[in-house]
Amino acid sequence: RLPKKGMQHRVEMENFTIQLFELYISLIPSEEEEMRRSKVLSQLDGVVYKTWPGAKLFLYGSCANAFGVRNSDIDVCLTVEDRKMNKAELVVRMAAILEGDNMQNVQALTHARVPVVKFTDPVTGISCDICVNNMLAVVNSKLLHDYSKIDVRLRQLAFMVKHWAKRRQVNETYRGTLSSYAYVMMCIHFLQQRNPPILPCLQEMQPTYRVKVGKIECAYYDQVDTLRHFGFQNKETLGELVASFFEYWAFHHDYNHLVISVRTGGFLSKDEKDWTRRIGNDRHLICIEDPFEVSHDLGRVVDKRSIRVLRDEFYRAANIMRHDCNPSVTLFEPYIR
Ligand code: ATP
Ligand code: MG
Repeated sequence: RLPKKGMQHRVEMENFTIQLFELYISLIPSEEEEMRRSKVLSQLDGVVYKTWPGAKLFLYGSCANAFGVRNSDIDVCLTVEDRKMNKAELVVRMAAILEGDNMQNVQALTHARVPVVKFTDPVTGISCDICVNNMLAVVNSKLLHDYSKIDVRLRQLAFMVKHWAKRRQVNETYRGTLSSYAYVMMCIHFLQQRNPPILPCLQEMQPTYRVKVGKIECAYYDQVDTLRHFGFQNKETLGELVASFFEYWAFHHDYNHLVISVRTGGFLSKDEKDWTRRIGNDRHLICIEDPFEVSHDLGRVVDKRSIRVLRDEFYRAANIMRHDCNPSVTLFEPYIR
């Protein structure tokens, strides 16, 4: 069956947008929460300073990139020059420091791709992940934040997609589905592709921001205040965008041949990236190029089983948008496995 059309459809779409908008508002973190977060951070600053006076703490992830919903945890990156210790050792040292400071549930995950120490602050109950010398995460969080300032529809769409992914249990990298970071990339790319476009491609514009992280040159146009009107020609509403997003990933994306690339604002072929074969555990069943680490496919966690789960969920969502008379409830119904 084809999508609904006509007057009735228009009214339904308007209602849908209103309901999504209410959901969006309810997901925005409160000011009080922001305050609690900065308290945890300044306390951390104090603790770290005692051991490494030259160290710096940077926020990254959802609390720095504008895509954090209520009650999310904080991601912090510690930058410290200590030639005697590698990242894993620094993480272990940090864990000892936090335990000495009476933090709860302190865990050092030294074997993860990115070693982190996790803990909970007993006063605020906020959980925090600290990684070490991972400036790329800080820089890509800034890129996402800058995109979010251009058109509010990005933040709204990403909130809806992330909320859907959490409710439907397809936001679990350890089970082969996608990270929040990957979903935000999909949203940015989708809005770059609208006609007329809602977002520009900041990495294709004259760079006003440049940093080198290891061997990777990160450069893009970050004077986004000048782009406030960029998406004005496009009048699509939140409801229409959510519907088209799922329609695209359910029915139109060419999973066999294409890579989505926020860096170029377009598509690349799997052939040119050499992402056509499975190498080790890396499969390329849904390809999302990282904007800076271009050899990194954010979809590589997806395997033969989980690609089915993911595509079935896109399909379910798209069908709800096409046929359900109360999509804002059905779309986000929790999936009980
Ligand atoms: P959530 O609200 O679910 O916690 P989040 O925005 O914190 O969402 P995560 O997927 O937890 O998103 O990632 C946190 C940050 O870690 C991202 O903003 C990004 O900077 C970095 N990151 C996560 N996954 C990757 C990855 N595969 N490659 C590079 N950086 C990543
Ligand atoms: Mg996070």
